[in-house]
Amino acid sequence: MVSFEDLGINEAILRSIKEQNYVEPTFIQEKSIPPILEGKDVIGQSATGSGKTLAFACGIIHSMEKGRGVGALVLTPTRELAEQVSDALKGFSKHKFFKIAAIYGGVSINPQVSLLRIADVVVATPGRLLDHMQRGTINLSKVKIVVLDEADRMVDMGFIDDVNKIVSQCPRNRQTLLFSATMSPDIEKIKNRYMNNPVSIFTRQQVDPLKLSQEYYDVQKELKFSLLVHLLNGEHSGSVIVFCNTRRQVDFLAKNLIKNNLDATAIHGGFSQAKRSNNMGRFQSKRINILVCTDVAARGLDIKDVSHIYNYDIPKESKEYIHRIGRTARAGKEGRVVNLLSDVDHPNFAAIFKAYPSINIREMELPQIKRVQISVSPASRRDGNFRKRGFQKNRSSSNRGAFYQKRRGSR
Ligand code: ADP
Ligand code: MG
Repeated sequence: MVSFEDLGINEAILRSIKEQNYVEPTFIQEKSIPPILEGKDVIGQSATGSGKTLAFACGIIHSMEKGRGVGALVLTPTRELAEQVSDALKGFSKHKFFKIAAIYGGVSINPQVSLLRIADVVVATPGRLLDHMQRGTINLSKVKIVVLDEADRMVDMGFIDDVNKIVSQCPRNRQTLLFSATMSPDIEKIKNRYMNNPVSIFTRQQVDPLKLSQEYYDVQKELKFSLLVHLLNGEHSGSVIVFCNTRRQVDFLAKNLIKNNLDATAIHGGFSQAKRSNNMGRFQSKRINILVCTDVAARGLDIKDVSHIYNYDIPKESKEYIHRIGRTARAGKEGRVVNLLSDVDHPNFAAIFKAYPSINIREMELPQIKRVQISVSPASRRDGNFRKRGFQKNRSSSNRGAFYQKRRGSR
């Protein structure tokens, strides 16, 4: 067993790692920390939840000195992630007393300007950082280490030009680290343009499939919400995330879950920053155990102990499915993924099987579902018209189940 001490990490970091009660390094930490400490450029690809933050934190803390201007720059795709990474860095660098600034949009810029004057480490979303660059309120000339966290997501969210502008303004002799849960041709481009002979570390498995049970229900559109309520009521679950494809669907679900006495909150990109933080906080502190969200809002967040992922919509992009399921079964815990499919979801669902041939998702038999009250919403107007409450007879499972079974069987 490799220990943190074997990796060459300095005393101050080792102390804070001990305080976090980490017993041994994760795979990505074990493989990436030594080259990072040698000052090499590193590309690290591994699943969400595999501990990438500590890997680059070691590099930052190792190469930085306090009070010499901004020495490290971390770019993240979302505001929440900027907050989360900056909090993690504060924890890991506790014995070094670095000033760490989280810089993102949606909040007032003035306090950030003062913070940037004294910051040693900046964790930022690309848009707001560019703002500061244009205003001349950040000096990147002392940057020794640049980290692109969730690089795939920054590409997906259209930040590639911003990332290019920012990185090209950093000193040439810097160290560049790139972390991502998935790899793509765009990431190759970043690599070729901005990285110097990088060491690449890949981990094959996105999540531990042994720990992860994946299921699907084939359900009529009109009964989908009732099925969700039925399952949420029946499960003894911890924290649950329900994913939707659109903000509108998130609003619809959150509202109706609450109406049905379920303890739900929501985040999506249409909310103010204050509302997003507040709702996230309530979920993370476990005051509320159901979070309804879009992919963008949830990406990269480290939410501890998520026991169930519900896909109320199946994502259009198959790799988004992998990101979603990476929210559970973290750090060796059990997790369960439940897909609720009605007609519109089948093309996207079939695409997942095509993209990930070894995936294993079991069909579940529909339980007796009690139709629940739904208030009229634009996302699902027809659902609102049911006046009668009562028990719906099981619909026998369609022949699609056979289709997915067969696809699996034929490999
Ligand atoms: P990633 O960036 O790969 O998605 P994070 O860095 O956010 O993963 O880490 C996920 C969780 O695992 C965090 O709660 C972190 O504190 C925890 N963690 C990281 N490294 C270890 C370790 N070596 N042992 C135990 N827990 C760890
Ligand atoms: Mg991460």
